[in-house]
Amino acid sequence: MGKGGSNIGPPTELLPPMSKVQVRVPTPLRAFTGGAPVTEAEGATVGEVLRGLVRTHRTLEKHLYGPGGELRNFITVYLNDEDVRHLRREETPVRPGDVLSIVPAIAGGAPAEAARTAGRPAPLVRVAAGEEELGPPLTQDQLRRYSRHLLLPEVGVTGQRRLRGSKVLLVGAGGLGSPAALYLAAAGVGEIGLVDFDKVEASNLQRQVMYGTKDIGRPKLEAARDRLTDLNPDVTVRTYDHHLSSDNALDILRPYDVILDGTDNFPTRYLVNDASVILGKPNVYGSIYRFEGQASVFDARRGPCYRCLYPEPPPPGLVPSCAEGGVLGVLPGLVGTIQATEAVKLLLGIGEPLIGRLLLFDALSMRFRELKLRKNPDCVVCGTHPTQHGLIDYPAFCGIGPEVDNANRVPEISPEALAARLAAEDPPLLVDVRNPSEWEIVHIPGATLIPLADLPQRVTELARAREVVLYCHLGGRSAQGTKLLLELGFTHVSSLTGGIEAWAQKVDPSMAHY
Ligand code: ZN
Repeated sequence: MGKGGSNIGPPTELLPPMSKVQVRVPTPLRAFTGGAPVTEAEGATVGEVLRGLVRTHRTLEKHLYGPGGELRNFITVYLNDEDVRHLRREETPVRPGDVLSIVPAIAGGAPAEAARTAGRPAPLVRVAAGEEELGPPLTQDQLRRYSRHLLLPEVGVTGQRRLRGSKVLLVGAGGLGSPAALYLAAAGVGEIGLVDFDKVEASNLQRQVMYGTKDIGRPKLEAARDRLTDLNPDVTVRTYDHHLSSDNALDILRPYDVILDGTDNFPTRYLVNDASVILGKPNVYGSIYRFEGQASVFDARRGPCYRCLYPEPPPPGLVPSCAEGGVLGVLPGLVGTIQATEAVKLLLGIGEPLIGRLLLFDALSMRFRELKLRKNPDCVVCGTHPTQHGLIDYPAFCGIGPEVDNANRVPEISPEALAARLAAEDPPLLVDVRNPSEWEIVHIPGATLIPLADLPQRVTELARAREVVLYCHLGGRSAQGTKLLLELGFTHVSSLTGGIEAWAQKVDPSMAHY
């Protein structure tokens, strides 16, 4: 509430009192608050508390606030598990003991056709109703295979036939897609579509349980088809060996009843969301980061979409990918299984879907939390007056792509050139900006470890006059670090092209890869 509305009494009496509240800091931002998951801050309103927080933790400011001082769009703020963003979030008063949660996006069209046609609620998915739509009766083999489902009145013979007539598309056949595809195939979902273009790598097997050691080097789709049809020969597996893009997404998604988002990058996540909104399909969302997971069901016809939650992605590099940040192997097993559960419920039309609810899971504390999600009336794809009526250029929207890459270009040094400089007189100071756990696996001799998150605080350790070379695993984080040092006035600073991985390939083949 503003201070208007009443002119009675001095304005100070209308100001809400200051309160001390707890602020839950998400993992990606803890590097800027001294590592604590929960901290305290004081203020009368949500906005004041957050301002107080960034006054204490200066480096946090640019992650929470945009250049114009506005709270960034990829940050959602909850007051005691209520989304306050769409309710004048900054002005919402706080009381002593309140808990403020900052929940950022993690990797990381027109109104639905169906909803536009009528005011009546559309069915969640196209549910087969008539006898002829359910297909032939279950065979003897199917009765045996699905007997534990048939015993459940919520499923029964009709439900099982319904599953057999259903189609689910999994975008991504990795950590989330693996358990989801296995359970959906086991459950007897008639058709499973898989979009992926990767090959199975040894480092996938820690969590991507659809694949085995013998599959290393094979295309994931080929290995997945073998595994799923072995698990259940009733299932038709359709494979799409492409990058999902704005050109093909609508055609690929259209035949399916439910979309399951198991992607690991923001451009595809926004693309899957927008295409699902345009086609009026439920989008079963899951994402993972280190020990934490999120899950929800986005269905713009009866609840919010991913864009309502996060109108914009975080800037590239703020939230590290699993390849950079690591992930507990069991975590995608849990989140992917939650997604499969939601998909099966939607197909059967049973239970209470996760629509309008964001499930947060923390494996370390073994805690589930649930946050209410609201539809954002100003959402550009599913709001009251949508401004985006089709698919857009998602890499550009997420701040990646050729133009952005050019703008972010920093001085680089090749592995060979660095090797020569290190062997010469007056070698550069070599700084490893990875995490200590990566340093422990392998590092370049003579380097100093300063994790990227600590760089702002430890910048004084780098003598400005000297040449500095930063490196990381693949070159992304060292480029960010180089940019930061350039902004701070360093002149002789560069980033090792391709990171320690390129160094191992070009300079020291005896080095471990990870
Ligand atoms: Zn929306």
